[in-house]
Amino acid sequence: MLVPETSITHPIEERIAWAEHCCARLKDTLLGDPEVSSLLEGLRVAIRDSRSRMAGLGIGDLCKACEEDEGGSCCGAGLEEHYSGTLLLINLLLGVKIPTRKGDPESCFFLSATGCQLLARHVICVNYLCPKIEARIPAGEIACLRQMEGVELDLLFVLHERVKRILCSLP
Ligand code: SF4
Repeated sequence: MLVPETSITHPIEERIAWAEHCCARLKDTLLGDPEVSSLLEGLRVAIRDSRSRMAGLGIGDLCKACEEDEGGSCCGAGLEEHYSGTLLLINLLLGVKIPTRKGDPESCFFLSATGCQLLARHVICVNYLCPKIEARIPAGEIACLRQMEGVELDLLFVLHERVKRILCSLP
């Protein structure tokens, strides 16, 4: 019998363990579902497009400079608490290697020296742009980026619901 999803109130390590357990047991079943596999592929492309747009706008460079010069990252400790087991499972299905230990105690569990280790991110993470970035990037460019991120988030929402429905239907 499938272990029920650990609640969002459980420690992040337990949610990661739950996602790893489900992936090991049910990866073939989930990837064998035509809707899941098509949504995963669409999501992969949407994430690639929105990340590439962000890089093209220089957002990654601005974040790096801010972190190096001002010693701060927006990915602070506790933000990982927004991540459900199902969202972590989707990351595993996308081939992400999820860390099992936190790096910097002051930062989000999923932040590494090279940035966020997740591909499918929570709406809070996708939508956040600091005031400095909003002031430096033209509004039209931000609107275009928001549109691409909207595609990513819509696909992720439908996929999240589909995966949950499959998990609930299993004996
Ligand atoms: S973007 Fe990634 S590292 Fe940053 S807060 Fe979100 S999950 Fe954590």
